[in-house]
Amino acid sequence: MNISEKIFSLRKKLHDHSYRYYVLDDPLISDYDFDMMLKELERLEEENPEYFDVNSPTQRVGGSVTKSFITSVHSTPMYSLDNSYSLEDLKEWEKRIKKIIDTQIEYTCELKFDGVSINLTYKEGELVRAVTRGDGVKGDDVTNNVKTIPTVPLKLRGDFKGEFEARGEIVMPISGFNKLNLSRVENGEEPFKNPRNTASGSLKLQDSKEVSNRPLECLLYSVEDPKLFNNHIEFLQNAKSYGFNIYNNYKHSTSLDEIFEFIEHWEKNRSGLPFEIDGVVLKVNDFYQREVLGFTSKFPRWAMAYKFKPENTGTRLNSISFQVGRTGSITPVANLEPVNLAGTIVKRASLHNADFIESMDIRVGDFVYVEKGGDIIPKITNVDKSKRALDSKKFEFPEFCPECGSKLQRLEGEANHYCLNYNGCKPQIIGRIQHYISRKALDIEGLGQETVALLVNNGLINNYSDLYDLRFDQIVGLERMAEKSANNLINGILDSKNIPFERVLYGLGIRYVGETVAKKLAKHFENIDNILNSDFEKLISVDEIGEKIAKSIIEFSQNEQNIEIINSLKNHNIQFEIDDSAKNISSILLGKSFVVSGVFSNFSRDEIKKLIETNGGKISSSISSKTTYLVAGSNMGPSKKEKAEKLNIKIISETELTNLISGQNLLF
Ligand SMILES: [Zn+2]
Repeated sequence: MNISEKIFSLRKKLHDHSYRYYVLDDPLISDYDFDMMLKELERLEEENPEYFDVNSPTQRVGGSVTKSFITSVHSTPMYSLDNSYSLEDLKEWEKRIKKIIDTQIEYTCELKFDGVSINLTYKEGELVRAVTRGDGVKGDDVTNNVKTIPTVPLKLRGDFKGEFEARGEIVMPISGFNKLNLSRVENGEEPFKNPRNTASGSLKLQDSKEVSNRPLECLLYSVEDPKLFNNHIEFLQNAKSYGFNIYNNYKHSTSLDEIFEFIEHWEKNRSGLPFEIDGVVLKVNDFYQREVLGFTSKFPRWAMAYKFKPENTGTRLNSISFQVGRTGSITPVANLEPVNLAGTIVKRASLHNADFIESMDIRVGDFVYVEKGGDIIPKITNVDKSKRALDSKKFEFPEFCPECGSKLQRLEGEANHYCLNYNGCKPQIIGRIQHYISRKALDIEGLGQETVALLVNNGLINNYSDLYDLRFDQIVGLERMAEKSANNLINGILDSKNIPFERVLYGLGIRYVGETVAKKLAKHFENIDNILNSDFEKLISVDEIGEKIAKSIIEFSQNEQNIEIINSLKNHNIQFEIDDSAKNISSILLGKSFVVSGVFSNFSRDEIKKLIETNGGKISSSISSKTTYLVAGSNMGPSKKEKAEKLNIKIISETELTNLISGQNLLF
């Protein structure tokens, strides 16, 4: 076999195996063998770039970055479906279509997945484009991201001529969603709210590599090519053999009564499905009949969605407890009489803050209604005041911290109450260390969120600088801490000494200093002392640093214990300065805003941007009246040029930019 034959054969094998694994759920080889084959193909492709193929199985892993998604028009519109909420509505619908068609009508009935609709275009059997539904006429081209979803076939099985569109729903299975959230919580990140929004957000990520780590699946529901099938049931039964992923639970029937049974069954049993569904879709089976029925101005007449009622139930509110966050914020939580809601037992519901409780006049002992949207934590939607006891008392938000007993404070304009016992309130101490070690901060490997609590509760650490004094003999033997884990933990802590300053700054957990703000501050002030010694005026003079952030930094720096901890971190050689490559060379471009566009001959576009930033200038992606200069290379888009001219913005070349920086500024 020569190289090209080898590459083609590996591609074919890998496509086949992933089809067996993901669509048929019947793998023939182990994951390990699959990975080995993929690695082999990767190597061959790398060594022989002339055989590059956009739809090679190696392209699944992602890696491309999309800065902004192009809009693409669907070749036939993606209609939304008319909704019905009762079986009566469906009978009415049948009456209406039977007025148009007097022969027998067969229906297909499928589950309505709660995900994001996608339009896949195949040309000669290969995926060429994946576009979101958007407004139904046009959507965003998310091809690179969709390619990473293993149930989207990159090449169809069989011979296909010409071009057609296939439509489906991209969903995140509940198990994958829960796993993703678990790892987010462990990393100190906010958990995602529900699978649907997470799937939709994932498709819009800029880095397709990140998308490939999201557990997404594509379930196909139609192929827009009348040549391929005569009716919908034929599509459902055969599309799998083309490589498409079809969900098996569907119903084909002429009788609405049978369809009602299907609907009632799934309304009751939906919580047992691997995905979230919000109803059932009924379609006229025969494509010729569909053509006769046609469309209203908004919907196809031949289809109808039956929407399930929101999952909602009533129960008793037994008590209200309070969680203390790492910044001292107090979140009230409702403890409910356990009740079955959509297949899961619900015991708690979020009460958000004092205003929420006040606005609904929620009281302990009330009979309340809870609803499960797509969100993990159910919410209270209503209070049945007729069931309220006569001696019921209005709920008073506590004055003192439930964990440490110090007086709570509520600042003006803030929805939350705060415990200000920064150094003595245990959940705050644990929360701060958990934040410090999280992935986006010091990213300490071998140290999980629970271990932090364990170490604090065993009196081994009380703040994040104590981590660096931990000894092997202190931790080995603690709960779930064998020799190997203890070693990993110590090494992980040592490694964190190389984490750059901006992430250390974020890890300190100063209120309102998130990732982006930390980056800005690090770049502007260059080291920790400059930040902590700055006064209010100096802080708010920094671009995008507002009063709230400035006040919070000053509050942090005025706390003696914080300064002690930082000094101790300094002694442990934590990075408290930006490294030289990130330092500003000059501030000659200070206060000037640049847009960079086109291709340059002496620098890459990123080098031009870096040159501007390290000389104090600001980069923005689009031209506005605030833009000072447009730095133009060749092949710049005509619309950018037009806009710059219209707004009277100076257009300069790369040479003019370097002159500007070196001081030969003929332009000022
Ligand atoms: Zn407290």
